[in-house]
Amino acid sequence: MQAAAAKPQPTREEKLRGEYGRYRANNDLLYYHLDIRVDPDRKYISGKNTIRFKMLQADTRIQLDLHSALNIDKVLFAARPLNYERDSGAVFVDFPQTLSVGKTYSIDVYYSGYPAESGRFGSIAFKKDPAGRNWINTACEELGASMWWPNKDQWRDEADSMEISVAVPNDLVDVSNGTFVGKKDLGDGYTRWDWLVQYPINNYDVSLNIGKYEHFSDRLGDLPLDYYALPEDLDKAKKQFEQAKTMLEAYQHYFGEYPFKKDGYKLIEVPYSGMEHQSAVTYGNHFANGYLERDWTGVGISLLFDFIIIHESGHEWFGNAVSAADRSDMWIHEGWTTYLESLYVEYRWGKEDALKYTNGYKGKVKNQEPIIAQRGVNATPPADQYFKGTLFLNTLRSVINDDQKWFVLIHDLFQKFKYHNIMTEDVVAFFNERTGMNLTPIFDQYLRHKDIPALELKPDEAQHVIFYRWVVDEPAFAMPIRIAVNEHWQLVVPTTQWQKLPAATEKDRIRVATELYYVDVAKD
Ligand SMILES: [Zn+2]
Repeated sequence: MQAAAAKPQPTREEKLRGEYGRYRANNDLLYYHLDIRVDPDRKYISGKNTIRFKMLQADTRIQLDLHSALNIDKVLFAARPLNYERDSGAVFVDFPQTLSVGKTYSIDVYYSGYPAESGRFGSIAFKKDPAGRNWINTACEELGASMWWPNKDQWRDEADSMEISVAVPNDLVDVSNGTFVGKKDLGDGYTRWDWLVQYPINNYDVSLNIGKYEHFSDRLGDLPLDYYALPEDLDKAKKQFEQAKTMLEAYQHYFGEYPFKKDGYKLIEVPYSGMEHQSAVTYGNHFANGYLERDWTGVGISLLFDFIIIHESGHEWFGNAVSAADRSDMWIHEGWTTYLESLYVEYRWGKEDALKYTNGYKGKVKNQEPIIAQRGVNATPPADQYFKGTLFLNTLRSVINDDQKWFVLIHDLFQKFKYHNIMTEDVVAFFNERTGMNLTPIFDQYLRHKDIPALELKPDEAQHVIFYRWVVDEPAFAMPIRIAVNEHWQLVVPTTQWQKLPAATEKDRIRVATELYYVDVAKD
């Protein structure tokens, strides 16, 4: 139960990148039109982003972001060039007059260059497919969308809609987010592919998928399903992508209608494992069940379904529709979506398998640092946000102790916060208000401390009692839990103070429902 080691002070660069500072907070993004040309052979990108925003404070400057590997060619405002200042990844754009509160403005940011490939999936990666053709994909959640295009690169504010126009050599296809609007032969060996996003979108979800794609389509009710795979993988894709329908049915069952209906749902083959790009989920899971052909949670259930289809698409609900407002609270994406995997298992195979699946994640949890990371510095939370995140939500369900109520709560949580960017406090306030319980110490213990609660049990056979208490960081922690004494199950509500239960037994005859609650048990 020690305090986590003091974090080093954030660097100036981390603050510029992660803080929602004055020149970000003074405006509200409305719209982007990213209009670019991608030259695969030169690994070169050029074009512009039109950015429309409304001023929330009168000011003469706004902050955008673009990786320093890329040039800004000019910034135009009403056809006149604006001054700007670059400071590491930040771009401060200056206006000749004060922009007024409540007014809408539009600028065009022209840029070009050779983007830096870096991070887990390259951010933007110029690759070849197995047949040697160009295959270019973006996946930039880790380092940010400003790795390859100029935008307001933070999590709190999203453009409400977006057009994406991508010119690529005639023999290639670009699949981006949203609905396909059309393509135009530009007459110079390039074809422009136009896409329209009709919902708010996280910057990092905006994606390019450029390759020799074949397209096939299907429907689920009135929802269009569009699939893109390399020609050689078409048959495998047609078979494996069938799972998308059961996935959509399962999540619609728990949370309501697919949240990006006008944009449709797409699965696109890529050379990396996969990513939740909004309405354009990318897929690289070898057209096989499990996760990269492994039994991901090690209990025999993962191999029943395709992990990437189920997990990455789950983000359409949590991550894309309900989004965190700061990267520090990314468990709202990953903890919830990992829990959605177990809801999928429950929908298909029942609660017992879902519990087995969820508890299969225990071996991956490290409990070395809290799930919620430092705010305002673009910090990445530890992988516990996934595994401990889902184990926590399973625990919370057991605390609610009424499955029907739980399903209504999570449905309503999604409906309340869809298309919004929220923080953990919003989730906690929702549960507290709706349940009338004070769940704050439970959320705080699991999300803001590294250690999970430990239930201390001390049977005293002479006195015919069992002493019990929680050992935790949160003084007000009073989580109910199921324990069995001599095979008789009961719900007790330990606090951080010793309490006693009348029962004569030895420690081996006391069991704790650790498949329902993610806790340590100390018996001595
Ligand atoms: Zn995820």
